[in-house]
Amino acid sequence: MTDQPRGLIAPVMDADSAAWWGALAEGVLLLQQCDVCGRDRCPPLPCCPYCGSPGARVVPASGAGSVYSWTTVRRSLAPAFVGDEPYTVLAVNLDEGPRLFGRLLAGSLSSGARVWARCYEVDGQTLLGFVEAGAA
Ligand SMILES: [Zn+2]
Repeated sequence: MTDQPRGLIAPVMDADSAAWWGALAEGVLLLQQCDVCGRDRCPPLPCCPYCGSPGARVVPASGAGSVYSWTTVRRSLAPAFVGDEPYTVLAVNLDEGPRLFGRLLAGSLSSGARVWARCYEVDGQTLLGFVEAGAA
């Protein structure tokens, strides 16, 4: 068996997402809030998926949410995560509305469990994770 190379498959950053990734590197989770319908969205998009308006302002998210679903990775296909298995990836409904995905960094699992967003770093790239409320 050969060793898997380490290395994160870097997220694709474009004009819409570069500021989001930059803020995440500073520990801030951002949302876009539509100028017309007021709904929050994430990931960043050039227009509102609900009403089609291109106007939006950037607002910080509370970071609080509830677990919607999860999967446990037992064999990672991402070289940067080989050796970390098993690990759990959550689908979290933020209190503001958007559903985001990130690794469970601390705590236990249950549907509807309250979690907080936390940043972690892999190969110099800041990623989004979650901790169960009341855990580390
Ligand atoms: Zn809208």
